[in-house]
Amino acid sequence: MIRKTALISGAGIAGPTLAYWLRAAGFEPTLIERAPALRTGGYVIDFWGLGYDIAERMGLLREINRIGYHMRELRIVDDRGKRVTGFGTNVFRELTGGRYVTLGRSDLSRLLFEKIKDATEVIFDNEIVGIEETADHVRVQFKHGDERRFDLVIGADGLHSDVRRLTFGPQPQFEKYLGYVVAAFELRGYRPRDEDIYVMYGQPGQMVGRFTLHDDRMLFLFVFVADRGSLPTTFDQQKVLLRESYGDGKWECPRILAELDRTDELYFDPVSQIRMGGWSQGRVALVGDAAFCVSLLAGQGSALAMISAYVLAGELANADGRHDQAFARYEAFLRAYINTKQEGAERFTGAFAPKTRQGLWFRNQVIRAFAIPGLARFAVGGDIIDTLRLPNYRWSSISEFTT
Ligand SMILES: Cc1cc2nc3c(=O)[nH]c(=O)nc-3n(C[C@H](O)[C@H](O)[C@H](O)COP(=O)(O)OP(=O)(O)OC[C@H]3O[C@@H](n4cnc5c(N)ncnc54)[C@H](O)[C@@H]3O)c2cc1C
Repeated sequence: MIRKTALISGAGIAGPTLAYWLRAAGFEPTLIERAPALRTGGYVIDFWGLGYDIAERMGLLREINRIGYHMRELRIVDDRGKRVTGFGTNVFRELTGGRYVTLGRSDLSRLLFEKIKDATEVIFDNEIVGIEETADHVRVQFKHGDERRFDLVIGADGLHSDVRRLTFGPQPQFEKYLGYVVAAFELRGYRPRDEDIYVMYGQPGQMVGRFTLHDDRMLFLFVFVADRGSLPTTFDQQKVLLRESYGDGKWECPRILAELDRTDELYFDPVSQIRMGGWSQGRVALVGDAAFCVSLLAGQGSALAMISAYVLAGELANADGRHDQAFARYEAFLRAYINTKQEGAERFTGAFAPKTRQGLWFRNQVIRAFAIPGLARFAVGGDIIDTLRLPNYRWSSISEFTT
């Protein structure tokens, strides 16, 4: 039997997950990634729920928990580094039955990729520059090299998806900017270290935090108010904006800004959501951030990227490859769930980096109240516990992949 082919653009979280499950559905996936190798560094993610369940079905749990972090506390400090408020993160572990871990996004991406790399055609350092659909296939033009044909093309290429742009139109049509920019970098040897504690410092409209990583590394995360129209695109300009924005900051701000000189990798992006009327068109579909980025404020984007990849592949398996039917069912199954996650993240926007002193004060009072037994559970339980159930699909060749 000739296997149907699918070109997946993007080897982040959704892309390798999709390649894995598409093979289980009897497809022949090809993965194309713009970067010359898997991306490293970046930031850490909290990981639980259905994404965690899918990772388990892929046989990844042991490794994820081995390399992951088990954060103990989120601590907010004042100008002099004194604890103002905070809460123990046990509540997340209780709500998830211990199935909760924090890990590097690039570590999760690597583990997913390792699951598929030997059995999947992978093309690095290349990208799709043209997509043309005909009656029975999609003709794809690559930036470097020839044109090729595939039965399906799937965009798993993140917030700034080019598959989305080429198929559905320019990003501004779908982007909802939430008013903040996020930046992150890591380096070795920073002191002090507060192991497994996420230490956060805020001023109106901006927060900066640090989190200890393995091998004496430290991750720094900035979230601050900025105008979307004037965001810098070069590394040097981005550093300048960070220095301008945090120049008056107290706590460890001067030291952290000085450390910026020691890094040549800075993650820098708008905090935006992607909201589209539909996630597929003809033989092209989108998964993960490309389709519905919920933003970092949902704290669940990676899990959602994995869920969407799993469901899309599963619906293709169930529909015996009838992509139109599968794409419609994929979206019908996930749409309301994703909408709720996006709405929740949007509501949470102001709490992450409140724009006024009163807002900061109020946010800290709410966090302080988390110490009241049961209150944290009550406040965040709805966002943590997934109500959706993962369907079981008709995988044709699952045993090959679950070892
Ligand atoms: C600071 C921060 C904190 C976060 N915290 C959490 C958290 O706690 N929990 C959580 O679950 N999620 C979190 N997220 C969100 C999460 O990282 C994303 O939702 C997730 O990475 C989306 O996966 P993806 O595969 O759709 O896209 P990505 O992970 O962005 O991967 C896209 C891939 O496509 C590649 N690519 C881009 N353009 C092209 C192209 N034209 N051609 C080929 N390849 C291309 C990119 O190089 C990349 O490898 C956070 C995000 C940020 C920014």
